[in-house]
Parts: sequence; C-alpha cells; structure tokens
Amino acid sequence: MKFKHLLITATVLGALGVAAPSFAADAKAEAKVVVIRAGKLVDVVAGTVLKDQTIVITGERITSVGPSASAKLPAGAQVIDLSSQTVLPGLIDMHTHLTADAYLGGYNALGVSDTRAALYGVRAARKTLEAGFTSVRNVGASGFGDVALRDAIDEGDFIGPRMRTAGYAIGIQGGHCDENLLPADKNVVGRGVADGPWQARAKVREMAKYGADVIKICASGGVLSKGDEPGAQQYTLEEMQAIVGEAHKLGRKVAAHAHGASSIRDAILAGVDSVEHASLIDDEGIRLAREKGTYLVMDIYNDDFILQEGEKAGMLPESIAKEKVIGQLQRDNFRKAYTGGAKMAFGTDAGVYPHGDNARQFAYMIKYGMTSMQAIQAATINAADLLGWKDKVGSIGVGKYADIIAVKGDPAQDATELTKVSFVMKGGEVIRR
Ligand SMILES: [Zn+2]
Repeated sequence: MKFKHLLITATVLGALGVAAPSFAADAKAEAKVVVIRAGKLVDVVAGTVLKDQTIVITGERITSVGPSASAKLPAGAQVIDLSSQTVLPGLIDMHTHLTADAYLGGYNALGVSDTRAALYGVRAARKTLEAGFTSVRNVGASGFGDVALRDAIDEGDFIGPRMRTAGYAIGIQGGHCDENLLPADKNVVGRGVADGPWQARAKVREMAKYGADVIKICASGGVLSKGDEPGAQQYTLEEMQAIVGEAHKLGRKVAAHAHGASSIRDAILAGVDSVEHASLIDDEGIRLAREKGTYLVMDIYNDDFILQEGEKAGMLPESIAKEKVIGQLQRDNFRKAYTGGAKMAFGTDAGVYPHGDNARQFAYMIKYGMTSMQAIQAATINAADLLGWKDKVGSIGVGKYADIIAVKGDPAQDATELTKVSFVMKGGEVIRR
C-alpha cells in the first residue's frame, strides 16, 4: 500500500513539475526484502514436500524459492527462521459468510442491521486470517457488507484475508435466498429475489454493479431457511442458463448452492463454475461434474456445529431436523464424488459455525476419502483455480503473493495439523508469529 501511495504522490508531483522519477525510484528501492528459511515446504503443485528451502520475498511478492544450500541471500534482508517448521501457501476457503455470526441463527438474525453485520465481519476477517486462511470467497452477504469489508481490507484499514465477494445471493421468491421469517403483512422480500430469466439477468447486473466479483445463486432449498426443502429444486434450468450466460458475459463466475440431485444436475448443465454443498449428488451429477470440470465445494464439517450448538444459536427446529437428514448423506457423497473423479475445492460455510475454525474440516475430508496432501491441494491450488487467481495465490512460486503459513508438524502427513497454524504472512506482512 505504501508503495502505491508513493507512486501516486510521485505522479501528482510530476504533474506539478517537481522531479517525480526519483520518488518512484526511491519507492521501488524501499521495497522490503524478507527471507524465510523453511525446514520443510509443501509443494502443492507437485504434491511433494521439499526440505531446507529458502523463500525470498520482495515487497508483497515472492521473488525466489529454492534449496537453502544454493540460495543467495540479499544484503540487509530480514530473516525469518522457520527451519523447525513446515511451510505452505496460505489456505483458501471458498465458502464463507464473514458478516454472519454463528450464534445469531434463525429469528436472532432479524435484529441485526446490515451495518452491524459488516462490523461482525471485521472481527471474523481477523480470526479467519489468523487461522491461516489468506483468501476467501464470500458467497452471500446483506447490504453489500462483504464488498465494504473487501475494500477496507485492501485499503489497509484492518487485517483480513483477500476476498472475492458476491453481494446478495440470488434466488426465487420464497426460496433459500429469500427472507421467509416474517408473515405476509410485513411484506419483506429479500434483496436477492429474482424470478424468471430476465429478472435473474437484471439481478446479476445489479450485483456486478455494486461490487460482486462472483455470482451466488440458490438452485435448491436449504437447511437454515424456513419452509423449504434442501432436496427440492428452486431455480429452473432456463433461469440458471440465463444467470450463467449473463454472469460469464460480465466476467463473473457462478457458485450455485444446490443440495438436491436435480438442482445439482441442472446447475452443472447450465454451466455454473461450482456447486456448493452438493449434499445429495447422484451418479449422474458426479459424471456431469467430472465431464464439465465443475468444482464441488462440499462443507462437511459444519454438521457437527449445527447438531451440537444449533439450538443454542437460535437455529429453527426445522433446520436442525433437516440437517439430521442430510448431514451424514453429504459426507458419504463427498467420498463418492471424490473417488468418482469430481474436482473439489475447500469450502466450509463459515458463519454457520464460528469463524476461525475453518481448518476443522480437514479431518472430515481425510476421513471421507482424501489424503492429507489432496485435502491441502483442495484448499490451495484447486481453490485458487476456482477463484480465478491461480497466478496470484494458492502456491509458493515466483511472482505469487507472499501468502505463507507454517505449522510445527507435517500437514502433508496429517492435515489436521492445520488447526494449529503458528505463522501467518499475507502479502509479505507477518500477521501471526
Ligand atoms: Zn453458505
């Protein structure tokens, strides 16, 4: 940030006839150089663990990485010694709701203003980053609180992960993405409601206008919404085709919340980039996902929280009943889908459970069919690919942002070690040590 401001100053001074180029040169020379000594380094691209590596960071980017034995240390560089630890790229959660608080479920949420929710997001952003998640895709927030949060983090107002934001999730009247808690005389309609292909296209345009990087839609009913069924389809194929066509035209990817088998199939056929939850995916859905390269983002940790804490958190009795029906099926289908060849990216629905506990999901990804390395890849390179940020994040390589974490154990052997992150760096700045 400092660098950018100096450049702007230099440009302004240049316009005033003051010698600007020297300012720009000084700013460049100022970029801080940091060296990390890594005892072990997880190469998520190759799926291997390298020993005794040295990473050189200049400003916010990685400028070299290689064996410590042959590394040339730049003079005056700050050295961070992680030689007794395992270093890996910052983790990515593809399904968060940073402006949601887990203990404000059901009717409790009605008393929370959009402004207050955004401020919950400030705390959630810090917790998420400190837990080692240096990027998130936030798939649904009211009042465009996620957009404000993203911009405030980018401008350095407070710390948090890099964010891709959706604004409001788009869905049918009375569906999972509407507001169904109040009776008809209160006349409350969710801001994301759009029925029919053209209304849906207009809603995509509205989200893009106000800062959405990604479009989130509700293809089926949900667990935490009132009066609908997770297994029942909500958007039609025709509506989803319109949404995907519009979003892709505007350069936005589409994430579809879909629990039921038919909603998953139609979402994939419509061309969405990821299916969220995918709880009741069938063989046909797995085949389509594999053939079309559609990512599945299956949140298989939060069942624990909903069943143990949901009532205390204010969740509706019907929500807990729905979770009891689909929670275990989703975990079993995670195994089926993964072994069936579907691409997976890590996403947890953070906000349904407390922020910062994101890494608890690794235990379930391993239990239901992944190796620790595969689970790490789902949360790094795969997630970066789905974000459209493969050139920026998701691996430790030259030119990437220095988003780097470390743990004392070996997460490639046991990814549950990632619940105990001891070091976090984002864009070359040490967040936690
Ligand atoms: Zn969600």
